[in-house]
Amino acid sequence: MAPDEFRQHGHEVIDWIADYLETIRDRPVLPPVQPGELTAQLPAHAPEEPEHMNRILADFRDRIVPANTNWNHPAFHAYFANSGTPPAILAEALCAALNVNGMLWKSSPACTELEQVTLRWLAQWLGLPDEWFGMIHDTASTAGVHVLACARHRADPLSRFAGNADRAFIVYCSELAHSFVDKAAMTVGFGLAAVRRVPVDRTFRVRPQVLAEMIAADRAAGRTPVCIVATIGTTSVASVDPVPEVAVIAERERLWLHVDAAYGGAAAVSQKYRHHLAGAARADSFVVNPHKWLLTPSDLCAFYTRDPETLRGAFSLVPEYLRTAQHPSAVNMMDYSFQLGRRFRALKLWFVMRSYGRRGMAEVIESHCDMAGGFARRLAADGRFEIVAPIEFSLVCFRYRGSDDENRALLEAINSSGRAFLSHTVIEDRYVLRMAVGNWQTTAEDIARLCVLIAGLAPGPS
Ligand SMILES: *Cc1c(COP(=O)(O)O)cnc(C)c1O
Repeated sequence: MAPDEFRQHGHEVIDWIADYLETIRDRPVLPPVQPGELTAQLPAHAPEEPEHMNRILADFRDRIVPANTNWNHPAFHAYFANSGTPPAILAEALCAALNVNGMLWKSSPACTELEQVTLRWLAQWLGLPDEWFGMIHDTASTAGVHVLACARHRADPLSRFAGNADRAFIVYCSELAHSFVDKAAMTVGFGLAAVRRVPVDRTFRVRPQVLAEMIAADRAAGRTPVCIVATIGTTSVASVDPVPEVAVIAERERLWLHVDAAYGGAAAVSQKYRHHLAGAARADSFVVNPHKWLLTPSDLCAFYTRDPETLRGAFSLVPEYLRTAQHPSAVNMMDYSFQLGRRFRALKLWFVMRSYGRRGMAEVIESHCDMAGGFARRLAADGRFEIVAPIEFSLVCFRYRGSDDENRALLEAINSSGRAFLSHTVIEDRYVLRMAVGNWQTTAEDIARLCVLIAGLAPGPS
């Protein structure tokens, strides 16, 4: 592509993005498409000859976008709603332009050092120890594999040579912990059977006493407990495990404590919600996903550990005698991960943090929590609905007072309207709807419209 052409199409793309973001409410959140519909519109083979950018951009507009779920829509409330904000969109373009591989300090000093700096800033925003070692992963799930590898390495440094041998390494988490724990256990060879799911209390928090009993039972049976995962903001209902009590057990039992705050951790940017991170500073590792609720587009997971030596011990293949005494800033990220290559993800987080500032970010977080609270109050005032879990953050779990089938039908009606997208979960064997606020463009008026939509679609008079 000639420089002039690049300039011209670049301007077109930016104009398209600006229009998309400005008029996104005119689009359905969920596309009205059937499986295979897009595939049927696309050629079965890649072009033999070069195609003009005008045609590629036209197909992007006319075929790809209409088949896309609009995650950046202010009425996207499924899973955990998130945001691709304008500063980060610009940073993503610059990231591609630099096209860095940050495997070594030398392969990109800027990538390596900006990652350390932005993650230290973020730790400060959350009130966490800023001497923790921070690194960026794509997802909390990838971080989770590193967590179990660390826990195993601390328990048995020979395991990196011998594998798990015949040892039964065990990991503990709440029954509401994210499924990454299971996937990580499968991946590192502990096996699914090594995951102990500890029951929760009436407010969906893990029960420390039962946790302690399960650890004792495993030790008595000759197994090797290595890790506890505590969650701040569970995926299903956003409950907060009693981390201080869990930390006491982890310290006494000498187990690796991982605190998963993928969603909920973001709230600590606001002093109002800082208390949810109580005890988190005692973790061996900690995760928060800026791509969930810190206005940064997918993907970017901030992973921290107080024990980078164990992390490096688990993953570095550089023999000690080849290690040069290097400046502490000159870390080689490839020594701390199973990944070799890494993209310059810190750039977008740096753009976002500077563009919003801590105060601006806290205001967004607080407004999202306020909107969730307002939604819950309006719904509860309509006798047909009940709120089924405490609201700690910006997630509301509710249900229509009726059968599971009626709730399923209500969700289907909301989502197929195109005017909002909600998801569901199952709590205490009941089908429950989830409404999460997390988009930078969502307003109180959007939430009021959503309440009217739901009230209109639910059976019976309000
Ligand atoms: C979303 C979520 C995860 C997984 O996040 P990925 O980055 O998509 O792997 C883990 N834990 C919790 C609590 C989550 O909400």
